[in-house]
Amino acid sequence: MPVIESFGPHRKTAAESIRLRDDRRFRVLPMPGLEWNDEVARETAHLFERVKNVIPSVEWPFFAPYVRAINALKKERNAVILAHNYQTPEIYHCIADVVGDSLQLAREASKAKADVIVQCGVHFMAETSKILNPDKVVLIPDSKAGCSLAESITGADVRLLRERYPGVPVVSYVNTSAEVKAESDICCTSANAVQVVESLGADKVIFLPDQYLAAYVASQSNVKIIAWKGACEVHERFTGDELRRAREHDPSVQIIAHPECPPDVLAEADYTGSTSGMIKWVREHHPHRVIMVTECSMADNVSAEVPDVEFVRPCNLCPHMKRITLPKVLDSLLTMQEEVWVDPVIAAKARRAVERMVNLKSC
Ligand code: SF4
Repeated sequence: MPVIESFGPHRKTAAESIRLRDDRRFRVLPMPGLEWNDEVARETAHLFERVKNVIPSVEWPFFAPYVRAINALKKERNAVILAHNYQTPEIYHCIADVVGDSLQLAREASKAKADVIVQCGVHFMAETSKILNPDKVVLIPDSKAGCSLAESITGADVRLLRERYPGVPVVSYVNTSAEVKAESDICCTSANAVQVVESLGADKVIFLPDQYLAAYVASQSNVKIIAWKGACEVHERFTGDELRRAREHDPSVQIIAHPECPPDVLAEADYTGSTSGMIKWVREHHPHRVIMVTECSMADNVSAEVPDVEFVRPCNLCPHMKRITLPKVLDSLLTMQEEVWVDPVIAAKARRAVERMVNLKSC
């Protein structure tokens, strides 16, 4: 069984804290007005248009004042908001500058021109942004937004694996801590895992921490995979049985699944791919009814874009992703908290593994 790493906010050095406190650009700002009125309705009408199929109109008066305030603050702070595909529609469609899967966010983070990056996602994603942008301020609106995969393995575990399998390269999924990335040869995402593994030219690789993604890669490649027994608490809850029942109910339904799901789930799928792969598949195939076997908010986000596709939702929410809310994003921009900090020595080693992935031509 994997060792469970305790999770908590990373501490800034005293120098880091002083730098932030003394930088006038980053002073704490007063709370803006958050009342719903005609002006707010007018200024946010174009954004409501994007989400009107997935956010009831009675809820918009709560979201809209936050959306307006956050979008104004982004300019004042010269901030960019990166939002993962699993964020809720009011974040994904109304305040984010960049949306995507972990790979897309990592790539955009490395190109970010802003002074401040606000990561609407979980902690390892914010760490990845900091690793790629050591000179920028990276904020996460809730530092307790963790991940069961990232917490399933530590750097010490990777060192033990290397001792046990000397000379075997280590591929780590981006859903890992900076410390684990620092001990790895290269990172991967679910979008490029097979290409990354094959790019190493080895007959055997250590692949961590997701056992199901590892099994999927092994099924797609001749490279022998040594897997760690981590799992995503959201994707491992889906079962092949529930999908078989859904197909019996409607044989025409299309099933598309994320490779973090167990093999019996993938065996029922018409398509298996990363979150970005699934979104592309829906745009290209435009199915009548589809089951998107992944975190629930993604179906809402895609549904807002293709309202004529019916999404059957076997709903599993990620409790960590759902910690990020509009009020917390606003608070984060007002107070410049929580700043993500990664030890520079660990960050430099982790950056090599992430950049090696980002720079792979075939990915
Ligand atoms: S959905 Fe799974 S892998 Fe993604 S952040 Fe949540 S627990 Fe981690």
